[in-house]
Amino acid sequence: MAALMAALTLGLSGCAMTPADPDEAQESIQVIAMDTVMIFSVYGEKSTHAAYAAEDEVRRLEGLLSRTEPDSDVSRLNAAPAGEEVTVSEDTRTLLEAAQLYSKITDGTFDCTLAPVSSAWGFTEDSFRVPSRTELNGLLKNVGWDKFHLSEGQSLAASHDEGVEIDLGGIAKGYVTDAIAKILEENNIPRATISLGGNVLVWGDRPDGTPWRIGIQDPARVDVADGYAGFLNLTNAFAVTSGGYQRYFEEDGKTYHHIIDPATGCPADSGLTSVTVVADWEQGESNGTLCDALSTALFVMGEEKALDFWRTSGSGFELVLVTEDGRVVSTDGLTDCFAPDETSGYAYETVS
Ligand code: ADP
Ligand code: MG
Repeated sequence: MAALMAALTLGLSGCAMTPADPDEAQESIQVIAMDTVMIFSVYGEKSTHAAYAAEDEVRRLEGLLSRTEPDSDVSRLNAAPAGEEVTVSEDTRTLLEAAQLYSKITDGTFDCTLAPVSSAWGFTEDSFRVPSRTELNGLLKNVGWDKFHLSEGQSLAASHDEGVEIDLGGIAKGYVTDAIAKILEENNIPRATISLGGNVLVWGDRPDGTPWRIGIQDPARVDVADGYAGFLNLTNAFAVTSGGYQRYFEEDGKTYHHIIDPATGCPADSGLTSVTVVADWEQGESNGTLCDALSTALFVMGEEKALDFWRTSGSGFELVLVTEDGRVVSTDGLTDCFAPDETSGYAYETVS
C-alpha cells in the first residue's frame, strides 16, 4: 500500500509520477532552473509542444527575475544608483507591483527587500554565518517594501532608495506557475502536473478521472522519501509550501533557515514548520503568485496571525499549517480534499 501511495503521489517538494494512460499522449520533462528541480508532466495532443513552451517560459522569466544573473531586470535595478529610474519588462513590473501589494496586506511580513539580510546570513552564496545583532540592525535600515518605487501610469520604470536591494525569490516561482497555466490553457491541455519544488500546479484531473494527489512533505522527516504530513486531492489548483526545512544550516546546535522575519532580520521563529497555501486556478487571475507570496508571509506570521489573516481575507485560499508542537491545522474549505497521513504521528485539527 505504501508503495502504491508513493507511485500516485506528487510530492510538494518531490517529483511527479503519473499513471500513464496508453491512449493519451504524454510528455514529461525535467527542467533545472531558479535553483529548483522542476518536473512538467503534460497530457494531450499538444503535450510535447506545451511542455517545451513551459520550459522556454521558465528560462525567459528567470532571465528577467534572477538576482544573480548580471543582465536580469532585477540585477540592473539593484545595480542602479539610488533614485535612478530603470526601465524593466512588463513581467518584472507586474511582479514588483504584486510584491508591494502582498507586503501591504500582510503587514510587511512579505518583503522583497531582504536581500542584504539574506546575504549576511550567507543564503545567497552558500557561505553560511550568524551575523551580529549590530550588523543586522544596520542592514535593516535599508529594508522595507516602501523603499522601492514604481512610476505612475504607462511607463515601466522602477527605482530604489540608497542601499536597497530587490529579491523576488519568495514570489517568482508562483508567478512562473501562473505563466505556465496560461500556456496549458492556450494549448487546450486536458491535464498536467507542474512541479517547481514547493510550488505545484495541478491541471485538470488524473487520466482515471480522480483528483491529483499531492503529498505535503513532513518537515520533521525530510530525509524519509515518503514522509508526508498529509495529502491534498486537487484539480485545477495551485498548492505552495514554504518551510524552514527547505534551506538551512546549523551552527552550535541551532538551526537557521532561509525565511527571514523582516521585523528582526533573523530566520522566522513563529512556531510553524511549514505553511501550505491552496487556491483554485481561475482564468485571468494570478493565484499561483498569491499562494507563493502568502506561503512565505504566513510562515513568518505564525499560526494565530496566519489564521486571523485567512479569516479576514474571505474565501480565496485555504491553508495547511504544520506546527513545531506536532499538529497539522487545516482550514475548513479543504474538508473534502485534505487527507491526514495516519502514520505521521501528528494531531489533526480543522479550523473555521
Ligand atoms: P522557496 O523559494 O524556498 O520555495 P519561499 O517562497 O518561502 O520558498 O521563498 C523563500 C525565499 O524568499 C528566500 O530564499 C528569500 O530569497 C526570500 N525571502 C526570505 N524571507 C522573505 C520574506 N519575509 N519575504 C519575502 N521574501 C523572503
Ligand atoms: Mg513564497
